[in-house]
Amino acid sequence: QNLMIVSSLTRRGLTHSHLHAHLRKPRSSQDMARPSSDLAAFREIFSKSKNIAILTGAGVSAESGVPTFRGAGGYWRKWQAQDLATPEAFARNPSRVWEFYHYRREVMLTKNPNPAHLAIAECEERLSKQGRQVTVITQNIDELHRRAGSKNILEIHGSLFRTRCMNCGQEAANYKSPICAALEGKGAPDPNTDDAQLPVQQLPRCEQTGCQGLLRPAVVWFGETLDSDILTQVETVLDSCDLCLIVGTSSVVYPAAMFAPQVAERGVPVAEFNMEHTPATMRFKFHFHGPCGTTLPPALARHEAEGQ
Ligand SMILES: [Zn+2]
Repeated sequence: QNLMIVSSLTRRGLTHSHLHAHLRKPRSSQDMARPSSDLAAFREIFSKSKNIAILTGAGVSAESGVPTFRGAGGYWRKWQAQDLATPEAFARNPSRVWEFYHYRREVMLTKNPNPAHLAIAECEERLSKQGRQVTVITQNIDELHRRAGSKNILEIHGSLFRTRCMNCGQEAANYKSPICAALEGKGAPDPNTDDAQLPVQQLPRCEQTGCQGLLRPAVVWFGETLDSDILTQVETVLDSCDLCLIVGTSSVVYPAAMFAPQVAERGVPVAEFNMEHTPATMRFKFHFHGPCGTTLPPALARHEAEGQ
């Protein structure tokens, strides 16, 4: 029944403040045990794990310099992501929303995976040769895990590099730069930039024969539900993992807060790698503090117990 609960949740219904308010309430003094930062103890469990789920969030991308357009100073022109990443904003002004996404796609040409992405990808490849599995469940839409070499990835918020047709529903990968001729040179983030106000016919259009419908970014916008097929796969991974890492996001805020409790409930160790201090609860066994590009590589490096 967890799946039904998860499926009914929307991003709008799951604001960080809601989750904090709900989850910070300690249920008993036992729940306030401090998580361990004993790397050797983590490594011991890691060396025996057969099925590792790695949830990643904005912090991993931030260490590659990817802007999130959220929080203090996080603006594109006069707006933040929550103003533009909505179906309403797209309906009202598709040209402006496409300028925003075009800018974000172009920015990614100048960014690269960092040591955290690379450590996860290297770990997946190495463990797969030992018959062990690593699955990345990410809220990031920048495809840096893919570029780092990860294969087994569930992108719960979609991708900047996928489009969906508003007319026929076709979803497709799209790495064109610019995505269409009219957007070339558009999308400047400066607050004084005027909207390009492109006619809707000049925005990205579907290439299916006879369709030509308006394309939108295939990302999950605020107020939209997560894709149920992907959630089913997430569910399967979480139900079968024997170690869960939460990287670059807190286990007590969305989206990890949505998934971590069911893992912890099965008694599976959860390890958090994060810049922020979080309320210590039994939800996780380990907490490693600091930039995940620094903390993750030694945690996921080859263990002496691994065969060659
Ligand atoms: Zn179409």
